[in-house]
Amino acid sequence: MESSRKPRHQNLSKVKNIPKIVVLRWGHRRERDARLTTHVALTARALGASGVVLSDIEDEKIKETIDKITKNWGGPFFFEMRTHWKNVVHEWKAKDGIVVHLTAYGENIQSSNVLERIKSSGKDILVVVGSQKVPRKFFSESVSDFNVAIGNQPHSECASLTIFLDRFFEGKELTKSFENAKVRIIAQKRGKKVVGNR
Ligand code: SAM
Repeated sequence: MESSRKPRHQNLSKVKNIPKIVVLRWGHRRERDARLTTHVALTARALGASGVVLSDIEDEKIKETIDKITKNWGGPFFFEMRTHWKNVVHEWKAKDGIVVHLTAYGENIQSSNVLERIKSSGKDILVVVGSQKVPRKFFSESVSDFNVAIGNQPHSECASLTIFLDRFFEGKELTKSFENAKVRIIAQKRGKKVVGNR
């Protein structure tokens, strides 16, 4: 029997009162982190963030990959590079946004009310994820309004970003619609169905 639960696709960026989320990826090392940084950006796009800033460094190959995905699978989504992380944070705060640093050492998203406090601010959010060990300053009030742990065990930036976005958007991002998509997946019980052309 077919499921009667039809997904209601919505454009999160056009739903009123849903804050915007941008991801700041810090500490990228070209050789070591290419795949993981790409996955951070793909995850950010697919799960409702508006864009990724790869701070302090450029990696044209990753930008090409992400821009191509956005061109084919839709957006809006941006991938920017090079700006020093301090400037990204400074500009974000100047526009009244808040900074959420994902770290195993922070307030546990499950056992504390940190997500409630973040949501009740109603402000746009810059989510900071590291790669290598982040500068100590990231934990300070001058940088992060909230240090959030997706459980207090070390794991992965991709996993922590996924859980944060899913909890923040309460699953609604999973039926998000993307504008100007050239191709779209039609969900199937089996097999693969894609409409459109790249
Ligand atoms: N050795 C690094 C350190 O001590 O900070 C760990 C880097 S970890 C592989 C890369 C990033 O994943 C971290 O900077 C953080 O953003 C994220 N991360 C890892 N575990 C996390 C957790 N339990 N909660 C939230 N973020 C986490």
